This record gives sequence, C-alpha cells and structure tokens, in this order.
Amino acid sequence: MPTLKFAVLAGDYIGPEVMTEALRVFEHVAKQEGLTLAYTKADVGGAGIDNHGKALPDSTLKICAESDAILFGSVGGPKWEKLPPKEQPERAALLPLRKHFTLFANIRPGLLYRELTDASPIKTERIPDGIDIVCIRELTGGLYFGLPKETTTLPNGDVQSVDTMIYRKSEIERITATAIATARSRKKKLCSVDKANVLETSVLWRKTVTEYVAKHAPEIELSHMYVDNAAMQLVRSPNQFDVFVTENMFGDILSDEMAVICGSLGMLSSASLGATKNSLGLPFGLFEPAGGTAPDIAGKGIANPCAQILSVALMLRFSFGLEKVATRIEAAVKKAVTSGTRTGDIAFGGKSVGTKAMADAIIANL
Ligand code: NAD
Repeated sequence: MPTLKFAVLAGDYIGPEVMTEALRVFEHVAKQEGLTLAYTKADVGGAGIDNHGKALPDSTLKICAESDAILFGSVGGPKWEKLPPKEQPERAALLPLRKHFTLFANIRPGLLYRELTDASPIKTERIPDGIDIVCIRELTGGLYFGLPKETTTLPNGDVQSVDTMIYRKSEIERITATAIATARSRKKKLCSVDKANVLETSVLWRKTVTEYVAKHAPEIELSHMYVDNAAMQLVRSPNQFDVFVTENMFGDILSDEMAVICGSLGMLSSASLGATKNSLGLPFGLFEPAGGTAPDIAGKGIANPCAQILSVALMLRFSFGLEKVATRIEAAVKKAVTSGTRTGDIAFGGKSVGTKAMADAIIANL
C-alpha cells in the first residue's frame, strides 16, 4: 500500500476550517484507492507566532523537510497586523518557506466551470464556456527577494526605500521549462508576459524564453505580451491565453486578477514546485488555496473548502505522481458544485451550504 508522507500546515482563521474538510475528503479517497496517509500537522503563520514565538518555527521546518510535500492552508490576519512587517505571518512564513525549499514555480490554474459563469465579473457572453487557463509564476526571484531591500534616512533627512529586481538566465530557463511542460499537456500555446520596453530584467526574460523555447520546444506556439496589456487582455478575453508565464511580481498581480475573474478565491488552488526532488523522485512542492485566511468569514462554518480540496489534487498529481486520483477529486468537486451544492461565495444569492456540507457533497461524488 503506497504511503503518502506530507506536512499539514493549516495556518490561521479559515485555514484550519477548510483544512479539516480537505483531510476528510483525502482520507475518504485514500481508503477507496488503497493509499496510506502519513501526515504531520504543524503550526505556521500566526499560529506559529502564538505557540512558538516565530511564524515559521524550526520544528515546522523540520517536519516539512522530512516530508515529500506540504499541504498548506493560509496565514495572517488582523491579530498580527500590528507586528513589524518583517515579522508578519505571510512575509515571515511563506516567503522563507518558498526560499528554503527553492519553490520557484507557481502553477495556478484559473478554472471557472461553465455552470458558474454568473460568479465572474466578466459578462457571460464573453466566457460562454467558462474559463480554463493556467498562470505560471516565477516565485523565488525578482523584487520580492532581490537585495538590497532596505529603508534608510538620507543625510538631508529624507527617507528612501529600495527594492531590487534581479533575474538570472538560469532562473528564467527553469521556469520556462515548467511552462513548456504545462503548455505541452494542454494546447501547446504559451504567452510570456514581461515589461521588456522598460525593464532590463524583462529584456533578459524575453530573450531567454525565446531562445529556450526555440531550442527545447519548437512545437510550442510562443507569444510575448507586455504586462500592462496582459492585465487588460485577461479581463477582455481570458481564454486567449491558455498558459502564460511571468516573473514574480507580475505573476502575483495577474494571478489575483485571474482569481477574481474566475468567480471566487474559494475555488482556486495552486502548486509551488521546488528545484529539489522528494523521496519518490518527484518535485517537492507546496500546495495551497489561492485565497488568504478570510478573517471576515472565519468561525462561521461558511468558507468554501473547494480550493483546499483541489490543492490536495494538485499535490497528488505533482508530488506523488497519482494523476488518476487527482483527476477523480477534481471531477468530484466539479460534479458537486455544478449539480447545485455551493457555498455562499458562489451561490449567487441562492441557497448555500456550509463548509462541511460542501465537503460531504464532494465525498458523495467520489
Ligand atoms: P482573502 O483572500 O483572505 O479574502 C478576500 C475575500 O475573499 C474575502 O471576502 C474572503 O471572505 C473571500 N474568501 C477568501 N477565501 C475564501 C473561501 N475559501 N471561501 C469563501 N470566501 C473566501 O484576502 P484578504 O482579506 O486580503 O487577506 C486576509 C489575510 O490573509 C491577510 O492577513 C493576508 O495577508 C492573508 N493572506 C494570506 C495568503 C496566504 O497565506 N497564502 C494569501 C493572501 C492573503
């Protein structure tokens, strides 16, 4: 019986609520498929600060390092907002986790089922079949990590802050390889998004992507787009993209835009894959919902657990190589939602169910 070893970092506010349901769905499917789940829960984010004095406790990092993948909830919220920026849960937990495990490739599917087009702010006639695109975001380079990153007081008393945007060719090549693999599994179309008319890093980005695709994947139809145009095109006609790849900050912004046009953060998950392999020889990765901790609805039992459940599917696909099981979970989520069981975020004023009932409906479709 294959044993799946992973760390469970539920985090804060709705994090533990949706994680409980995701694990219940996972246990159910594991029993059906003859899989043994060997997971260890650990504190992260605000829970890490409260219980260990640190957003990413050493004990949590150790548990992650001994696992084949990380199933992540979300971190942060009003309780810790007054802490200095460097100690805030997202910055002090998520960014170091990405850096520590070199989780350089963020794969975020932007999926809106045809039956849920009403949930999108885009007019239904523009997306009659829903949305089905993928954003590939470079996750460990660019402005968020480049040094110097500091605020100083100048001799004249003015205050100056600096962030540094750095990209190396090797970093661009490895994210391009991930984008190629994703494009190959879909329509063989890839759009690279940059700001090559202004930024030096983008000039290198465009040149490297062009050369890498020409050399390693000439069958891929590659196009380029400036990021400001991409932001417009995404709301105008999202399905023109299929797969797009971009650097860290552009990807942060565009992937959130993608989330909103797909109807709800509660439906979208993402995979962050590392440069290292796990004990199975597959990419070590972190799998999480696209949204945050939703403090506004925490404790009410109404959070949508679909994104967390879909992140289990991504973990099965990428870090455990269990494509068939992943597809079964995705199909069960789709069936449950499209046959009418919906949490408030996607119920369009109709009757909505709570977090647990949503997971029950998914289990019933497995
Ligand atoms: P958010 O994503 O938590 O919430 C934005 C809106 O989406 C809210 O109205 C919320 O109710 C809704 N929403 C999000 N997930 C939902 C779900 N599963 N079901 C139903 N509705 C859902 O963004 P925010 O309010 O800007 O941030 C709240 C906290 O989360 C902040 O502290 C922020 O730093 C943190 N955050 C963490 C992560 C992460 O851990 N990866 C990501 C984003 C934000």
